Parts: sequence; C-alpha cells; structure tokens
Amino acid sequence: MNNSPMISIVDVSYEYTNVDDTDLIALNHVDLTIEKGEHLVIIGHNGSGKSTLAKQMNALLLPSSGVVEVAGMDTRDPALLWSVRQTAGMVFQNPDNQIVATIVEEDVAFGPENLGIEPTEIMNRVTAALERVDMAQYRHKAPHLLSGGQKQRIAIAGVIAMKPDCIIFDEPTAMLDPSGRKEVINAMKVLNREEGITVVHITHFMEEAVGAHRVAVMEDGKLVMVGTPREIFTRVDELKELGLDVPQMTELASVLRKEGIDIPADVLTVEEMVNHLCQLKLMD
Ligand code: ADP
Ligand code: MG
Repeated sequence: MNNSPMISIVDVSYEYTNVDDTDLIALNHVDLTIEKGEHLVIIGHNGSGKSTLAKQMNALLLPSSGVVEVAGMDTRDPALLWSVRQTAGMVFQNPDNQIVATIVEEDVAFGPENLGIEPTEIMNRVTAALERVDMAQYRHKAPHLLSGGQKQRIAIAGVIAMKPDCIIFDEPTAMLDPSGRKEVINAMKVLNREEGITVVHITHFMEEAVGAHRVAVMEDGKLVMVGTPREIFTRVDELKELGLDVPQMTELASVLRKEGIDIPADVLTVEEMVNHLCQLKLMD
C-alpha cells in the first residue's frame, strides 16, 4: 500500500441533472480526507448528500468538479475503475437488492469471480469472509431464508471476499430490527479493529456513531462539522437546528445541565453517565 490517504476528497461538487434539465447541486465544494484504518461516521438529514458523497468514494459517481482519490487513484481515470472499486467496496441499505445468487457461498463468490480469481483462491476467500461475519454455518443455505441482519452480513462477506482496504456502508442497518442492527455493527467493528479495514459508515442512528474515530455532519450538500464523537455531540443545540439527534446519554446530560446539575456536556455512554452520577452522589 502507498502512503496516500485511504480517500481524499478535494473541493468536490456534484450536480444531478433532473428530467426537466434543471440541475440539483447535491455536493457543494466538499473537502474530506479519510485515513487508512479510520472508522468515520457520516450523519445528516435526508437529502443532505450522504449517499451522493458515498458513491464518489468508489467511482459509482464522478465529481462534476474537484478530485476524489482512493489510495492515490484518481476516480476519473477509466483505467483505474476496477482497482478503485476493488479497493473501496460498498454495502447498501437494502440487503435484498445486493444478493445475486440463490446459495450463500455462490453469492459471496460473485465478486471475486468477476475479478477473474482462480477457483481454489475464491473458495478460500469465501470461507474466510463467511467466518469473518460469523455466517460460516449458512454457507449452503438460500439467502432468501435468512433474516435481514444475516442477509446484510452475507452482502458484507461478498465485499470482504474482494479484499478491499475500505468499505463504505450506506445506512446498512436502516431496514433491520435491533438484533440485526447489532449483528451488522459488530461485523463492522471486527473488520475495522481486527482487519484494519477503513470503515465509512453513514447512519441515522446516533448511538452507532459513538464508537467511531470521527463523525462528519452533512447539510445541504456541504460538510458542516467534522470531529471526534465527543466534539461533535457536545454541540447539541447546533445539531438540533440541523434536525439531528444526539446519543441518548448526551441528550440526558444536556437536559440535566440545563436543570443546574453538574454533569459534563460530553457524556456519550451509559457507563460514563453512571460514573458522573455516582461522583455527584459521593459529594452529597
Ligand atoms: P442523502 O443520502 O443524505 O439522503 P442523497 O445524496 O441521496 O442524500 O441526495 C442529495 C440530493 O440529491 C437530494 O436533494 C436528492 O433528492 C438528490 N438526488 C439524489 N439522487 C438523485 C438522482 N438520481 N437524480 C436527481 N437528484 C437526485
Ligand atoms: Mg442516502
């Protein structure tokens, strides 16, 4: 791997052309650098440009102006297209739209087959990928019989089998029940923490952003805040103005502070809240 950042987005704008020939500016001069090994969460209300930005990260869309580089590869270079797509894989919201085969292992093998990888290596990759998402025992099952969380993990295994350096998850838990959500979030954490895969994760569940390295906030095609979860979620009132929530414990801390109770503003987890409350109790 070279020394370039995982993804570099420099002054990128993107316009969709509507059927009536009018343009809609979906990205407006966005700058963002994502380092190798990073876990970045992107939040922002519907229509703020998150999916458009995600699609720039693996050349599903190309900038109208500005430059996107994936591991130093300019996404506008047609000769690099498949390298870019193999380096930065994408997982979408609806697992049903991503499953292409009728047997789990065939589905996971689909990507590497298209890369022209030889059969024994494909089988090794399929086995390793299914183990990584804890789905090895479903190898010979039909995907349509699986739960939403399991299907999404199969979709993730299909991306892992391509050996990407980065995976972009566009609201992968939006259609899942709470247990499916947990399964997918755990799989994502394992890939980032244990495999060193860079994770870009778009979500509207604020609790899912708490464990990330950085959080980026989008509004109307612009990146309006980037920082650690603690830095971002402390700005409760600004986030509310953008129509966004904060993690429950941060919200509780904010309400308690307004009531004059001495809790720091940057509480993110239940554990931290309990610690602060216990300290107050001891001081009584
Ligand atoms: P988000 O993922 O944050 O909800 P999107 O990136 O999907 O936002 O959309 C950003 C803006 O671009 C929205 O105004 C949306 O309506 C518009 N848009 C998205 N896809 C298309 C498209 N294929 N054609 C025209 N406009 C689009
Ligand atoms: Mg979207």
